[in-house]
Amino acid sequence: MNNPADLTLTDLRDMLDKGDVSSEEATRAYLDRIEKIDPKVRSFVTITGEKALEQARKADKVISRGEASPLTGIPLGIKDVICTKGVKTTCSSKMLGNFVPPYNATVMERLEAQGAVMLGKLNMDEFAMGSSTENSAFFQTRNPWDLDRIPGGSSGGSAASVASRLCAASLGSDTGGSIRQPASHCGVVGMKPTYGRVSRFGLVAFASSLDQIGPLARSVKDCAVLLQAISGPDTKDSTCLPQPVPAYADACIKGLDDFTIGIPDEYFVDGLDPDVEKAVQAGIEALASQGAEIRRISLPHTGYAVATYYIIATAEASSNLSRYDGVKYGFRAEDYSSLMEMYKETRAKGFGAEVKRRIMLGTYCLSAGYYDAFYKKASKVRTLIIQDFKDAFQECDAVAAPVAPTTAFRLGEKVHNPIQMYLSDIFTIPVNLAGIPGISVPCGLDSKGLPIGLQLMTGHLQEEKLFRAAFNLEAALDLDISWPEL
Ligand code: GLN
Repeated sequence: MNNPADLTLTDLRDMLDKGDVSSEEATRAYLDRIEKIDPKVRSFVTITGEKALEQARKADKVISRGEASPLTGIPLGIKDVICTKGVKTTCSSKMLGNFVPPYNATVMERLEAQGAVMLGKLNMDEFAMGSSTENSAFFQTRNPWDLDRIPGGSSGGSAASVASRLCAASLGSDTGGSIRQPASHCGVVGMKPTYGRVSRFGLVAFASSLDQIGPLARSVKDCAVLLQAISGPDTKDSTCLPQPVPAYADACIKGLDDFTIGIPDEYFVDGLDPDVEKAVQAGIEALASQGAEIRRISLPHTGYAVATYYIIATAEASSNLSRYDGVKYGFRAEDYSSLMEMYKETRAKGFGAEVKRRIMLGTYCLSAGYYDAFYKKASKVRTLIIQDFKDAFQECDAVAAPVAPTTAFRLGEKVHNPIQMYLSDIFTIPVNLAGIPGISVPCGLDSKGLPIGLQLMTGHLQEEKLFRAAFNLEAALDLDISWPEL
């Protein structure tokens, strides 16, 4: 038999149900590969091998009774921003370096209820702030396609682990592009759901009005299956939507007749790498070949999205991160002579440079005298961006665009230039501001052999349309992207 770790989630499900492979065998195959390959890629912060094998054996019993759910026995990786009961959840920060949550995030409860297997926790930019995973307080995750390049971020570990077949699929979080951009750079599918589709309970907060958890996987259908498992109402998160969850995998059907795709002029501008543009255009043609009508559209306020995001996200972060004061949990500085000094020393030593920059920016934007000029104005622009998308979805079912202006850049290339780094998310941020779903699907390679993603976006709770378009793109391109051998 071939290595079960080479299968997609959907194919592994079939094999498990037919009894061709056991979850324990599949889990061992992944753990072996992690041992061999992860020292090069460095996607895992914590590996929970023993626990994984225990879960796998339990899953095998459920499967043999014929009671399997879609994720029973499937080995997954989880971004280290999602609380896992009894397993360290660090956010790749010194501040939470030893934090062991006493409870599970709702998404973890749902995965456990289905009998999924957790292989471990995945590296990220500290508190999900960054686009390259270079802001991890622990170590740098590398792009499996070229180990001298970044995997993207902040869910760099989630994308790199799926691309190098160290888990069947993973969970990431996306506040301004952190699932879609690393998925694009690593050649996997990554999806950010509608705001409120997935419970944020137990997701360590960065910017609460933007954060969503979502899946990264090797195929569109795999993403649909994983999203379905984690979605739905939750009394523990009052922003979680009450609407029932459709069968997302069933939306993956051939054909795009009666389907209009809008191409926003504002996403094809100077600074877009010609290789990226070419691959995205080829993707658009592939969508047309499946019957979709292609139409030029305008999202006129796109140019303000990055500025708006860096006010709203930092304002929310400055408030959310005030809880890390050395008192209740997490890191506490050792030397201090007063309570005030303890706070100061703890925060000075516990946070990295980028996190401090965000806290200072956000605190400034919210301070008396500046609130109206910055935060209030940004909130108004956000409303205009939401309206842009509402208008667009009057005339099209989905919008297609690039995910990122370039392919994966070199390690160290942008660390000293925050503005350049922030611009990596220029095409993904509007989706978070509008609260709509977006997905990155591989659409080709650049001249250096690095993967390129095409982004699709739809209206609120239109995930089925999103998966349908993405599935057709994937099928029509039928890319022969062989996974990087390491
Ligand atoms: N790269 C963006 C930032 O640094 C987005 C991060 C995210 O989506 N978590 O804020």
